[in-house]
This record gives sequence, structure tokens and C-alpha cells, in this order.
Amino acid sequence: MNEPTDTTPQLHIAGALELSPSPERAPVNIADHYGHFINGKQVEGTSGESFQTTNPATGEVLSTIAAANEAEVDSAVKAARTAYEDVWGKMPGSERGKYLFRIARRLQERGREFAAVETRDNGKPIRETRDLDIPLAAAHFFYYAGWADKLPYAVSGGTPAPLGVCGQVIPWNFPLLMAAWKLAPALATGNTTVLKPAETTPLTAMLLTEIFEEVGLPPGVINIVNGAGATGAALVNHPDIDKVAFTGSTAVGRLIMRSIAGTGKKATMELGGKGAHIVYADAALDQAVEGCINGIFFNQGHVCCAGSRLLLEESIAEEFIARLQRRIEALRIGNPLDKNTDIGAINSKEQYDTIRRYIDIGGKEGARVWQGSACEVPETGYFIKPTLLLDVQQSDTVVREEIFGPVLSVLTFRTPAEAVKKANDSEYGLAAGVWSEKTSKLYETAHALNAGVVWANGYNLFDPASPFGGVRHSGFGREGGIAGLWAYMKTETNQ
Ligand code: NDP
Repeated sequence: MNEPTDTTPQLHIAGALELSPSPERAPVNIADHYGHFINGKQVEGTSGESFQTTNPATGEVLSTIAAANEAEVDSAVKAARTAYEDVWGKMPGSERGKYLFRIARRLQERGREFAAVETRDNGKPIRETRDLDIPLAAAHFFYYAGWADKLPYAVSGGTPAPLGVCGQVIPWNFPLLMAAWKLAPALATGNTTVLKPAETTPLTAMLLTEIFEEVGLPPGVINIVNGAGATGAALVNHPDIDKVAFTGSTAVGRLIMRSIAGTGKKATMELGGKGAHIVYADAALDQAVEGCINGIFFNQGHVCCAGSRLLLEESIAEEFIARLQRRIEALRIGNPLDKNTDIGAINSKEQYDTIRRYIDIGGKEGARVWQGSACEVPETGYFIKPTLLLDVQQSDTVVREEIFGPVLSVLTFRTPAEAVKKANDSEYGLAAGVWSEKTSKLYETAHALNAGVVWANGYNLFDPASPFGGVRHSGFGREGGIAGLWAYMKTETNQ
């Protein structure tokens, strides 16, 4: 008699599949040099200081950028004030909305070009810039365009009015998307702005200024000043700024809050995070593995809401880690412009060194460092293999501090109460995720978590209609959704 044969299909994934190179070939036009965008014009920097922006995957210098000094920041703020008083602050919302719709449409039309520039400047994979960064940036302009003539419906009582001139400082992890998160609600509500992009990723903001010109945005409504931290400090401390909107590290957020205390400036702060990602034993494990991969390796882990602390129910921990490792072995690291790449380059040498330092600290404090063997890392450029830090303790540095890289610290728990206690044992409170097939468990856990955003059976899901922001040291204020409008408006009852 024949032995019964097992007919279950077996999937063996040993390393990434062999695929032919598939580079993005969209033509890009990056100028050798950029100044600033002030009062509707491209202006040359006058400070005499400049810096270079490079492609972190190759080291190629992409452009030289002027650094704005206090006088240039002052002229940008003056332009924004004039535009606010003479044009934008008085314009009916229905008219403002038309400009935002036009910006959104042009961004969609030029999406491929923007994606190719963003990937070069930032190092993130083209499939992310093409499928997420740029479409979502356009979606933010569309969403807030729709609100521009409906603002009274966004507040409970009173007539909403703009705040005035905003100073907006953004980081390098989602350069265009963060610009859209800041600019779209500010403009929809009738404010004018001065935006400072991050030093290592100024290119898509400068490309966006071409769209402002194309759609005929009145001069001074949006101004962009390039530079490093000193330019950002000059902007937020300028006496004629009414509102500061900042996304970046908690350390710089604290500095800014100290410096604007007592000035009457409104502020929103979107700061760091150390997201807890809880997987219960009754979760759909393969989906949860995908969720964890997306939670920590999306954008090389340069995500403030990254699920960087994995909390596994003890009974499934071993099995789950094995599945996670198998999935990580299939990730493709390399040329960010290749459409098959899952993990691109770390944005800068500074961030690369920071991540390496944290991995070393993890090892010294007793973590078992696992990086897999199948993922090959290019010899040039700043690349780090997706990393698991196993056998870590709640008190370890790598469990407490934001690493901002493709590094996942793995812990276990035995009861829902322990999961929540460990998840909440952090100075941060930006985002968290929970996986279970039991809805009551999802709700109970989500309500107990101390985080601004909680995803259930998913992670890193973004929508312009959905508010985003943190609690505790992750900041305050919300971006996105109706709440994103409140941060840019006042009423007679809420000055
Ligand atoms: P920063 O907080 O230093 O940078 C964010 C933005 O603030 C950049 O545009 C920066 O300019 C600007 N800036 C720096 N100093 C000042 C200042 N004194 N006043 C006003 N603006 C200022 O973050 P880093 O880029 O240095 O990253 C360091 C760490 O911060 C990361 O390792 C990560 O942990 C965390 N981070 C968190 C982010 C988040 O979204 N939560 C985003 C980015 C970083 P410039 O870039 O030109 O120096």
C-alpha cells in the first residue's frame, strides 16, 4: 500500500526572488543650485552660506542649496504677512479652495517626476514615493481644498478665522508629505506660511514651488526658506509669526516650546515615538507578520509612528519570530530607484551612525542581534539590514529610545494587562497597533493604550480624513481630518 502523500502546498522562500533590475526611468530635472522661494519668486540666497544635498544611496551630490539667514527669514515672513493682510486672509474660502484643488491636480499629474526626485534625495524606495508619499500629499491638498468653503461646519459655534502667518518646520523622513500636511490645512483656513524643509531633503519642496507658480498662487502665500537648524530657529522665533507647526525630534520640539513660551504664538508639535505593536495569540499570524514588517521596515523605519517595539503573546512568540525572520529574508534591500526594492538607503551618514550605535548598545545590553543572511546590502551608500533585537528587557535603551531605523525590539507578555502595561511604559505616546481576531479584545486594548493613534489589525495606515498626533512626549495637536483645521483657526470663543 502506498504511503498517504501530503498534498498541502509548500512555500519555500529562501532569500529574495531573483528578479531583473527594474529602475524607474522617469526624467527628472534637478537644478545645480537652489535659493529660496519668497514672495512668489525664486530668490538667490544672500547669506553666502550653502550646503549640499546628496543621494544617500550613491553619495552623488544632487544640488547645492543656499542657507537662509535671519534677514532672509524676515523677508519671507514680511511677504507672508502682506499676502495674508492684502489677499489670502480676505479671500472667500471657495476661491482659496480652487487654488488647493489646482495644486492637488498638478501634483498628481507630475507625480512620477516628484516620486523620482524624492527617492533620489531621501533614499526611500520608489514604490513608496510613487504609491504613498506623492499620492497621499496630493490627497491632503484635495481633502483640505474641500474644506476651504465649509469651515463654519468644522467648529462648534462661532465664526472661524485664520490665525495669520505660520512658521512651519518639517523633517526629512517624508519631505513632500510633511510639507502637504502643513501647507494644505494652513492655506484652506486662510493663513499664509513660511516653510523650512529639512537640510538633507529640500528638493521636492523646491519642485513644489514650480506648481505654486503654475497654478498662479498669489505671491507670498507660501514662502520656502532653506537651511539647517539655525534657519528653523530664526523662523519659529520671528516676532511676527502667529503659529508654529513643527515635526521632528522631541529634543528640538522642547527647545522650540521653551523659546516661544510667553509669546502668545500657537503651536502644534508632532514629535518622536516608540510605537508598541501587540500581537495576541489569537491573531491571524501571517497578516500580523506583514503588519509588523510594514510597521517597522516601511521607509527604513524612519517613521515617527513606527511599530518599533513588538510585544508578542508568549505562547506564540517562538513561532511568530520564525515567521517574521522568514519574511525578512525575502525583503530586497538596495537601489531605491528599483521598483522591486523594499528597503532603501538610510537618509544620511548621521542617521546611519545613530542606528549603528543603537544596534551596538542593544548588543552590549544583552540583546540577541539578528539580521538574517539572505538580504544583500550594496557596498556603497548608507544601508542597514532589517534588524531584530531579541531577548530584550523593558529597561533596555533600545526599548526606551527612538532609533528611527529598521530595528525592531521584540518583547513578550502573558496577559492583556501585561501587554498594555508594557506598551504604556514609555515616555512617548504617538502610535500603537493591536492584532487579534477577537473584536472585544481589540477595543479593550486600544482604549487602554496611551497613544494618539491605535491601529487594529493593521499598521501605518494613513488617510487625510483621519487625525494624527501624539500624547505625552510625542507632542500635541492633530494633523489631518477636521482636527487638523482646528490647529489653524480661532473663533470669538476660542482665541
Ligand atoms: P530634528 O528635530 O533636528 O529636525 C527636524 C526639523 O527641525 C529639521 O527641519 C531641522 O533642520 C529643524 N531644526 C533643527 N534644529 C532646530 C531648531 N533649533 N529650531 C527650529 N528648527 C530646527 O531631527 P533630526 O533630523 O536631527 O533627527 C534626529 C532624530 O529626531 C532622529 O534620529 C529621530 O529620532 C527624530 N526625528 C523624528 C521625527 C518625527 O517625525 N517624529 C522626524 C525626524 C527626526 P535641519 O534638518 O535642516 O537640521
